[in-house]
Amino acid sequence: MHFTGRTWRPNYEADSCIIQLTSGCTYQKCHFCNLYKDEPFAISPLSEFEEDLNEIKSYQPNARRIFITGANPFALSYERIKPYILTVRDYLIKCQSIAMFASIRDIKNKEVWQLRKLRAMGVNGLSIGTESGDDDTLILATKGYTSQDILEQCRKLDEAGIEYYFVYMTGLAGKGAGYRNAIRLTICS
Ligand code: SF4
Repeated sequence: MHFTGRTWRPNYEADSCIIQLTSGCTYQKCHFCNLYKDEPFAISPLSEFEEDLNEIKSYQPNARRIFITGANPFALSYERIKPYILTVRDYLIKCQSIAMFASIRDIKNKEVWQLRKLRAMGVNGLSIGTESGDDDTLILATKGYTSQDILEQCRKLDEAGIEYYFVYMTGLAGKGAGYRNAIRLTICS
């Protein structure tokens, strides 16, 4: 398998097969994060991705879910990510869903019809590090989007039928602001 640098997945993806499509993060500006500090963003060649699918097939030919790694492989445009997604079932014919990390910013570059097509190809279960639904906290963390952006982009996912999960950082708002952060998250979700 081709894994570059730091590789991780959410704990609820423990039963998924892990495969790399990107390494590093396209953004690198969240002020609390140094996960990919020394790792420039890169896209794995399709040939490498296929080699890894083949290797997964040799061990788990009946794999039903894969989780694509990289901080935000969903940053790839629809046209760029499509050949990777379409290749998965060439190797894993029983694969039912293809999950990955995504940012709110990564959804912005896709139209609803493109999201629907990706859903039809098997993309489902995006893990989105929204961290907060509170604009003051999002600015403090330099997340690069607002609570309104979260609502708008996730409505597109809803329209396309793509499931998603939020990663929320409870202490991100700072001392004394946890209640405000929590309340605004519920408004946003
Ligand atoms: S988008 Fe995610 S990986 Fe990238 S800097 Fe922010 S928190 Fe870190």
